[in-house]
Amino acid sequence: MKRRIGLLYGGKSAEHEVSLSTAMAVIKAINFDSYEVYPIFISLDGQWHRGTQLMAPVESIEQLQFKVDGNNKPNNITKFLIDENGEEVNFDVIFPLLHGTNGEDGTVQGLLEVLNLPYVGNGVLSSAAGMDKVIMKQLFEIAGLKQVPFVYFIRNEWNSEQDEILSKCEKELSWPMFVKPANLGSSVGISKANNKEELVKAIKFAFQYDRKVLVEQGIIAREIEMAVLGNDNPKVSVAGEIKPNTDFYDYDSKYKDGSTSLIIPAVITPEVETTLKEMAVRAFKILDCSGLVRSDFFVTQDNQVFINEVNTMPGFTPVSMYPLLWQHTNVSYPELIDILIQLAIERHNEKQ
Ligand code: ADP
Ligand code: MG
Ligand code: MG
Repeated sequence: MKRRIGLLYGGKSAEHEVSLSTAMAVIKAINFDSYEVYPIFISLDGQWHRGTQLMAPVESIEQLQFKVDGNNKPNNITKFLIDENGEEVNFDVIFPLLHGTNGEDGTVQGLLEVLNLPYVGNGVLSSAAGMDKVIMKQLFEIAGLKQVPFVYFIRNEWNSEQDEILSKCEKELSWPMFVKPANLGSSVGISKANNKEELVKAIKFAFQYDRKVLVEQGIIAREIEMAVLGNDNPKVSVAGEIKPNTDFYDYDSKYKDGSTSLIIPAVITPEVETTLKEMAVRAFKILDCSGLVRSDFFVTQDNQVFINEVNTMPGFTPVSMYPLLWQHTNVSYPELIDILIQLAIERHNEKQ
């Protein structure tokens, strides 16, 4: 029997376009002999819309962007579960291909939990904890994972104690510093500050995106990423290095100018590789992840390893780091899709 899969993509976030490209790629790679594939499109204004069953890969991205009829208001979100004849569509698995707010942060996962639908990837807790860089770092700290020092504060504190916060940063961290909104990805709102003046500017900029901001000590290091796949006994891929052509791995170098090189496998010593693998799995476990995670690290010239972050829904096009790392670990893109769907079903059955 074919499994009925709902591919959930688009979304109300800055990563809407990226999600569409991912959906294109998954539809191209997924095995139509094994799955009945239904597209579920979330428009930029947050309306959900389910299309009819796809019988073959779509030709263009425009075909993925349904015209929303206006009756499908967010309060009517579960309409995607009802077909043209008013019958319920029983999905075996929902595959969320969403990044960022309202997709990767536990909110959509919560909806799918309430609907009792199996879904690919991380659950509510791990998604939410992975999206908030401060909470994530506090959990890493408890687990004793090595990371760069950081300071954080909310807008209200910044407004009333600016001088105290700036002296705390200067006392506890050294230049340059990286300023980040707590709850974003794709480098949005992140800037590097080389002095106090730039720091103030960077903090104000980050507050445009979130009410919580963190300031991190900058580190001169290579950026190495590991792909983790599984539920209770996750496997780790080979390591990959990111070499941005810019000052740091910012939004444009991630998505626009294609100037970033990915080196897979990364050239590292066996000792560093062992440490990376161990830390990648520990990070997966401390956040109680399931399905997939990309764990990102800094590796200094003297081979010290610091964890930077985990991404609970990493970039997932065939040219993204996560699938490429698996490809170099002998798991092809179509196989990866099969494994993730299988893991989703296993996790769901375990909960019942
Ligand atoms: P995002 O979740 O948006 O990817 P990151 O925390 O990974 O946010 O930061 C984006 C990029 O900024 C990193 O890939 C790296 O190039 C740079 N960066 C972030 N923090 C630091 C730091 N403490 N030291 C040096 N570079 C950093
Ligand atoms: Mg991230
Ligand atoms: Mg990152």
